[in-house]
Amino acid sequence: MSRQKIVAGNWKMNKSLQEGKTLVQMILNQVNDFDEVTKIIIPPFTYLDSINSQLSKKENFFLGAQNCHTNSGGAFTGEISANMLSSVGCKFVLVGHSERRHYFNEKDGDFVLKIKEALKNNIQPIFCIGETIHERKTDNHFKVITEQLTNVIKEFSIDDFAKFILAYEPVWAIGTGETATAQQAQEMHAFIRGVVADIYDSNSANNVAILYGGSCNAQNAQELFKCKDVDGGLIGGASLNADDFCKIIFSF
Ligand code: PEP
Repeated sequence: MSRQKIVAGNWKMNKSLQEGKTLVQMILNQVNDFDEVTKIIIPPFTYLDSINSQLSKKENFFLGAQNCHTNSGGAFTGEISANMLSSVGCKFVLVGHSERRHYFNEKDGDFVLKIKEALKNNIQPIFCIGETIHERKTDNHFKVITEQLTNVIKEFSIDDFAKFILAYEPVWAIGTGETATAQQAQEMHAFIRGVVADIYDSNSANNVAILYGGSCNAQNAQELFKCKDVDGGLIGGASLNADDFCKIIFSF
C-alpha cells in the first residue's frame, strides 16, 4: 500500500456486540463522507461479521482483526485463521502487538508465519513494534526496534513488504496515558524508514505508512500527526468512544 493517512481503532477485549454496533453507527454518522483518511475498525473476532455489514460499501472504512493463527486451518481449538478472517470481510490484521508479545509469548517467527497467512488471503498486516521503558532508559530503543523490524521483514520480498503497514507503539505508552512526544515519535518513525531503506530501498521506505500508537487521543493526535513521518494512529482506549475517535480522524 502506498503511503496514506490512516486511523485504526483497536477495541481489544471491550464492548458487547450491541455496544460495538452502536459505536460504529455513531462513527459513521460523523465521518461517513470524510474519505481523505483510511479508517480501520478492529473489533473482537465475534463481532467481525456483523460490523462488516455496517462498514461494507462505506467510503474508506475497512474491517481489521486483532490476531490470526500461524496455520491456515485444522485442529487448533479456539483459534482463527487468516482464511476465516478473509471470509468475513477483513482487509487488515494486527500482528506483533505488544500485548500478544508479552501476555501470549509470541515471537518473531510467529509473526512471520501470521503475516504469510495474512498475505496469502489478501489481508494487509499492521505490524507493531515498540520498546519497553527499560529498553528506552538504557538507550537500547533503536537497537530493539531495528531487531524487531529486521527479524520479520527480512523474510518478505519487496513486493510483499509493499502491503505492510507498520505501527510504532512504545510499550511504555500503551494504555498508560503517557504519550511519546511528537519529537520522540518523529525521531523513531524516521529511524524506522532508515531501517526499511537499508533492507529494501528508499522507495519502500518512503511508501510504507507508519502509524503511531500509545495513548494517542483527541487532545494529542494533531501534534503527533503533524510529524512528517507519522502517517496516522493505532488507537486503543480512545477508539472506544465515538466522539474521541472521530476527533482523532479529523486531526490531520
Ligand atoms: C494499542 O493497544 O495499540 C494502543 C495504542 O492502546 P492505547 O491507545 O490505549 O494506548
